[in-house]
Amino acid sequence: MNETVVVRQTNQLPWNQGDERPDLRAKFLVDSTETNSHGLSCGILEVAVGGELPLHHHGPQEIYVIRSGKGLLLKSDGETQPVGADDVVYVPENGQHGIRNVGDVPLEFLWIFPTDCWQEVEYLYAEGD
Ligand code: MN
Repeated sequence: MNETVVVRQTNQLPWNQGDERPDLRAKFLVDSTETNSHGLSCGILEVAVGGELPLHHHGPQEIYVIRSGKGLLLKSDGETQPVGADDVVYVPENGQHGIRNVGDVPLEFLWIFPTDCWQEVEYLYAEGD
């Protein structure tokens, strides 16, 4: 067993930006690709002003912890719910969800998955991409 306790300095970690969604960028905080960890993973997603993580679902359940900004949580059937700093969202297995930045500063939240790493989560988008 590795019993080493790890501290990661969020502000020192680089942002990761994908090509497909220029309004989103991420930091991997606890993730088996970067830390000696398993079974739990956590990262930060930043949604640019006017941007959104579209409606999607995935097998693993998920928790969001909103850090800053003003968001609109997207749910199935077009339902929405405002969220802001310190709000916590629980998403059950395969629950449809997304989040839109409806404020005038970046929206930041932590995601937590019961997986070794973010890469093992298969995102299935409602809009079919
Ligand atoms: Mn999700």
